[in-house]
Amino acid sequence: MGGKEPTYFLRARYLQAIQEAGGVPLILPLVLSRTRQMFILQQLDGLLVTGSGSDLAPRFYGESQQYPFQHMSEERARLELGLSKLAFAHQVPTLGICGGMQSMNVAMGGTLIQDIPSQLATKLQHLQKKSAEYTAHPIHIEPKTLLRRIVRKSRIPVNSSHHQSVKTIPDSFRISAVAPDGVIEAIEADNHPFWLGVQWHPEFLYRKDALHKRLFSALIKAARLFASGSKC
Ligand code: MN
Repeated sequence: MGGKEPTYFLRARYLQAIQEAGGVPLILPLVLSRTRQMFILQQLDGLLVTGSGSDLAPRFYGESQQYPFQHMSEERARLELGLSKLAFAHQVPTLGICGGMQSMNVAMGGTLIQDIPSQLATKLQHLQKKSAEYTAHPIHIEPKTLLRRIVRKSRIPVNSSHHQSVKTIPDSFRISAVAPDGVIEAIEADNHPFWLGVQWHPEFLYRKDALHKRLFSALIKAARLFASGSKC
């Protein structure tokens, strides 16, 4: 928010988490053409698609809007979707958090539940009232997934600050974690060295619990590996 003056806004937690995991974070500008997005991507060894607070317009996944929620800007949506597509095609290690995971899913052809309380009969609180520094519900992590290899546990507590979630995933994606009510809490791609989306916010938990820090460390490790190989 910058009054009437357009201003970029990004929670410092995302940058701190990357730095504390040994990476150098760069904040990306809203460039829209594929050529310029490709130029940006070529400067990077990894991509973190952050959460946004507002929703991706449902038209991006072929649905009409059913509930009156605020959308993220057209520019941001196009950057997230465009960069996600390019990062997938060029095998750039990518971690998506909350809305970022949803964008990664939609970019490759997946769809979203527009509003969990309206569309799902669940008693679980996915939009927690307390601070995201506290956990809200457990998730089950599927065996033989990238997420399981990183976290090394089958069940962990996570925070939950979302009213939307992944509905369908593209072919060759897999669901790597679910909440007890079946809500999808993490996705990944088979044909990619590091393509992981999580529905919770590890950037609020990593200082308390090393398990969440491992997500960022794993991204940095994959980025180093990518940098040492052939870049896109
Ligand atoms: Mn949740």
